[in-house]
Amino acid sequence: MAEYDYDLFVIGAGSGGVRAARLASELGAKVGVAEEYRIGGTCVIRGCVPKKLLAYGSAYAGEIEDARGFGWTCEGLRFDWPTLIHNVRREVDRLNGAYTRTLEKAGVDRFLTRASLEDPHTIKLAGRDGTVSAKTILVATGSHPFIPDVPGREHFITSNECFELEELPKSIAIVGAGYIGMEFASIFTGLGVTVTVLHRGDQILRDFDDDLREGLAAAMRNRGVGLRMNAEAASIEKEGSGFRVNLKQGDCVTADLVMAATGRLPTTMNFGLQKIGVELGWNGHVVVDEYSKSSVDSIYAVGDVTDRMQLTPVAIHEATAFAETLFNDTPTPVDHSFTPTAVFSEPEIGTVGCTEHKAREMCRSVDIYKNSFKPLRATVSGRDETMLMKLVIDGETDKVLGCHVLGADAAEIVQMAAIALRLGATKAQFDATRALHPSAAEELVTMRQRWEPPAAVAGSDAAA
Ligand SMILES: Cc1cc2nc3c(=O)[nH]c(=O)nc-3n(C[C@H](O)[C@H](O)[C@H](O)COP(=O)(O)OP(=O)(O)OC[C@H]3O[C@@H](n4cnc5c(N)ncnc54)[C@H](O)[C@@H]3O)c2cc1C
Repeated sequence: MAEYDYDLFVIGAGSGGVRAARLASELGAKVGVAEEYRIGGTCVIRGCVPKKLLAYGSAYAGEIEDARGFGWTCEGLRFDWPTLIHNVRREVDRLNGAYTRTLEKAGVDRFLTRASLEDPHTIKLAGRDGTVSAKTILVATGSHPFIPDVPGREHFITSNECFELEELPKSIAIVGAGYIGMEFASIFTGLGVTVTVLHRGDQILRDFDDDLREGLAAAMRNRGVGLRMNAEAASIEKEGSGFRVNLKQGDCVTADLVMAATGRLPTTMNFGLQKIGVELGWNGHVVVDEYSKSSVDSIYAVGDVTDRMQLTPVAIHEATAFAETLFNDTPTPVDHSFTPTAVFSEPEIGTVGCTEHKAREMCRSVDIYKNSFKPLRATVSGRDETMLMKLVIDGETDKVLGCHVLGADAAEIVQMAAIALRLGATKAQFDATRALHPSAAEELVTMRQRWEPPAAVAGSDAAA
């Protein structure tokens, strides 16, 4: 008789968990997976996919305006939120079914319930008698929204509830200016909601390149988004049918809804990790090595729960490397270098590699090439829009360390640029690449003029 019920038991059927379970099963392992909410996880059910569908829906507002410049008459158009959210939910249901069938086809046993750990090889499934055992357990429990600990915090909605709204508010205050905050600010603005973003820092999108941060902040303000920097929520009170956010700085903001977009914490509490001695890091993430192994030999973890980079392709890569290592006899350390990422705001951001700031910390010499220009389409649509392209180069090796784009299709452009950066392309090789004309992306292979920081004016008062 087998020593354990399963070779592998996965807790959480999101991006990482589903990939690991399927691959391990296809490689011959006996696999079980527990999911307490819906198979597919955050990305599919209440993250990337439904969010991007809402962003598409919201972008039509600008596109219809653009169409007028191209000769179209667009009278009598109106937007209906129930139709959009209903169609988005239908696609989410379809994906939920597709992910479920993927596991089924791969022969993975599925338990739609909460799992907790009894010991390093034993799992308790809520609502079922007894326990199941596994040689290896993979924790792929993802992350959940962090909600600031202020009086009235129960009034906050998070990105989760944005997908549950039956009607659109007239106004919303979004606390936090990370990528999720900026994406929802953009979506709601396009759909006609009055948006105020409150952020305790002095610029949006910490950790992104400064030119992207400034460029997107300016573009969002131009679209009518109220961006209030150095504004920290002190408390939230109900006021009439809406809410009042009192700020530490003294004044307040009122809105129909208040959303917390203040980051996400790894989901590691209350299912036995601490009890069995798994080491957790500063924000509760599972501490793992490069093969995703935790401090307990039989317990591995992948995806948001390890807080390496909270992105779907990262969770999938970690899960694939885990399955290769344990079930295909191919030790595969994870490698997150040159992982591209996007902000699906309007305008969009696509970015890969080093920011200028980081490059200046790492390299002795850094060259910057950047250009801001009016995209061709905007010359006729009349849209007030500026596109930004920026390359960060190691001045000693000529290697392209970072590529940053703000503007239409930035994510699509940067996905392709990421291949070149990963292969170690140099600026000379970018320059030797023929341009595709007329396109916006051709700018990345035609920038010849190195950007020089503005020279300090002799005798000027810098603080003036
Ligand atoms: C609004 C939003 C937008 C996003 N947009 C993007 C984007 O554009 N691009 C991108 O790359 N990433 C995006 N992300 C991030 C992306 O969704 C995550 O990085 C990814 O889903 C992480 O996958 P995971 O497998 O680690 O966790 P998840 O997909 O979150 O899966 C974890 C699963 O574990 C389950 N679970 C937790 N505890 C238990 C338990 N004890 N028992 C049983 N089941 C349990 C949960 O219900 C969940 O289904 C977005 C996230 C959000 C919230």
